[in-house]
Amino acid sequence: MDYPLILGGKEIHTDEKFDVKSPYDGKIVGRVSIANDEIVNRALKITHFAFEESKSLYAHHRENILLRARQLLTERADDFARIIVSEVGKTIREARSEVNRARETLALSAALSREPLGEVISFDSAPNGIHKWGFYQRFPSGPVLAITPFNFPLNLAMHKIAPAIAVGNPFILKPASQTPITGFMLGKLILDAGYPADAVSVLPGSGEKIGKVLAKDDRIKVVTFTGSAKVGKKLVSDIGIKQIALELGSNSAAIVLSDADIFWSADRIAKGATALAGQVCISTQRVYAEEPIFDSLVEHIVSTMRQMKLGNPMDEITDVGPMRSAEDVHRIEQWLDDAVANGGEIVCGGKHNGNLFEPTVIVNVPQDARIVHDEAFAPIVIINKITDITEAIEMVNDSVYGLNAGIFTRDIVAARKAFEEINVGSVVVNDVPTFRADIMPYGGVKDSGLGREGPRYALEHMTYHKTFVAHHPDSD
Ligand code: NAP
Repeated sequence: MDYPLILGGKEIHTDEKFDVKSPYDGKIVGRVSIANDEIVNRALKITHFAFEESKSLYAHHRENILLRARQLLTERADDFARIIVSEVGKTIREARSEVNRARETLALSAALSREPLGEVISFDSAPNGIHKWGFYQRFPSGPVLAITPFNFPLNLAMHKIAPAIAVGNPFILKPASQTPITGFMLGKLILDAGYPADAVSVLPGSGEKIGKVLAKDDRIKVVTFTGSAKVGKKLVSDIGIKQIALELGSNSAAIVLSDADIFWSADRIAKGATALAGQVCISTQRVYAEEPIFDSLVEHIVSTMRQMKLGNPMDEITDVGPMRSAEDVHRIEQWLDDAVANGGEIVCGGKHNGNLFEPTVIVNVPQDARIVHDEAFAPIVIINKITDITEAIEMVNDSVYGLNAGIFTRDIVAARKAFEEINVGSVVVNDVPTFRADIMPYGGVKDSGLGREGPRYALEHMTYHKTFVAHHPDSD
């Protein structure tokens, strides 16, 4: 099937197209029209002028549009889930969960459109503010460029588009080249829900080519990017002064202390390391376990992983689907070889059949091995021994990334210490770093990014403050 792009609400087929292929069997999922230079320029112009209309929508209109989009997504849930499986390679159960989460993101954004966007300022708290009264109000910043990665093509795009609608910004979505069909379906959903047509564009095409041009253009006022640290860093240096949010990668870690519930910890770690074949930004990549429970923890993780069904992502019984490409499979094999050469020991997994990579546990890997300090993005977990929580925190912090971290313990003092001392965006107690709820402020420090998502927090980069100050000479 041929899929058009969306230019200011209109479906357009271009001469240049590319095939989207399934990472599982290489079959063509669909042909997609690519945005050329002319389309990019037209999109920038249309989106610029669309701001007048989108910012004039009343709050209850924006709320109704978001609620209608949620209803339509419920009706189209199965179509979305199947396309997500085909494009991404995640399992059908994972795809359904993504659709459900996108419904939640829409509900949270709808509620946001009702909230007051400002507060009264106590000017008289400073001597020069006496006789002044006022408040600030947030205003929509203008055209939003949403650049999204391949692994959550619906919900991560929704985390950008729904808050943009909640405040009245028009948007251009540049989906990942691997997953443009979900992007097209999402654009159509928003149009069918009633957002002004000119305010909606979805432009597939190479990020290096069109993503960069769009991001640099002065008519784009907000760039909200989710993807790798490598591309995120490039974007920052390319775009100059404008509002930007960066949700980047990580090598997330969990600490398991001796007092933890071993069965629960092992089950969560096995799942957190293999969800979407490990290709989640907060995949549980590193585990630091206290010596007394180390062997037992490894044994239970291995036993859970050995029971996982690897296979066709469309099958209901499949637990782990394919990695996205043969290059990624090859890369992780090399990283594992390098880890083994440096003393690591593979306890289970390590092999692949095509893009299906076995859930893998590797222990005792030196901290400077590439598989520890880089983002692995594969269904593997590295488990290393630590002597106490202080050493564990040091190991977790020994990373250029800082997105989420987890700690399994019944000791509230240890949990508090982890929360205060680990340098990340979220600390999850008694669950894996892979946990995320759409309501929470989500984002990282260091090379994991800048700014927070979760509809309420996305407001920070989708709006700007304007302050009203009035002088009252007669007041006391
Ligand atoms: P990616 O290669 O960085 O691509 C992300 C997006 O950026 C794609 O749409 C890509 O387009 C575009 N792009 C590439 N080069 C660009 C440039 N020079 N200027 C503007 N846009 C450009 O990431 P990915 O492989 O799709 O996704 C995996 C990465 O995303 C991992 O690092 C993962 O940790 C991270 N991630 C982070 C979060 C989070 O919330 N923190 C969530 C999910 C994923 P093309 O596809 O056309 O190259």
